[in-house]
Amino acid sequence: MAKKGRLLVISGPSGVGKGTLCKILMDRNDGIDYSVSMTTRKPRDGEVHGKNYFFTDTETFERHIDEDGFLEYACVYGNYYGTPRAHVMEKLEAGRDVILEIDTQGAMLIRKSYPDGVFIFILPPSLRELRKRIETRASDDQDVIERRLGEAVKEISEAAHYDYIVVNDDINDAAEKLTGIVTAEHAKVDEDIDEIIDRYKEEFGS
Ligand code: 5GP
Repeated sequence: MAKKGRLLVISGPSGVGKGTLCKILMDRNDGIDYSVSMTTRKPRDGEVHGKNYFFTDTETFERHIDEDGFLEYACVYGNYYGTPRAHVMEKLEAGRDVILEIDTQGAMLIRKSYPDGVFIFILPPSLRELRKRIETRASDDQDVIERRLGEAVKEISEAAHYDYIVVNDDINDAAEKLTGIVTAEHAKVDEDIDEIIDRYKEEFGS
């Protein structure tokens, strides 16, 4: 049976560069898949249904909630976001790592239901830098930007509940750290250690 994959739960304030970092991580490691969330938010320019998100309406989303179709879901900035359960569990069972790029509410729900997850928080070098990045993205109105900055401070307050912190000052340095975390997690002693030790003993005895 394949060894189970790692569930990599990545959070951080909007605009911190989580998406870019996850993409680099997946480019460098072909054992990692991205969990595409479902959302009731409207697509931004360039976003593709099925790639960035499964865009849907509130009624469909709520039907999925009733059918227990989400590993977790949350209301973020007035829209629903959720992680489709079946897809993630199948991948993990098949031995693939899965990235969840989700907010802190969702991450803490997963912490309870799936404590084996690896919880990683991405921090901006400063709030001023985060503001600059959100403004450069220019896809949101000014009041939305202010609301997102307020939410960012709330999200950052949750960083203490994560296993790892990565400051995204330089994208390559941050990606390097993220890759290192995944490598370290795969080197951790886990439930198959007895099997490994037995192999050495058997070889010695034969
Ligand atoms: P955005 O609208 O900028 O794509 O995402 C807004 C926030 O929702 C981000 O913090 C993002 O990580 C979070 N998010 C995206 N997908 C999910 C999900 O499936 N569950 C939860 N709880 N949060 C999500």
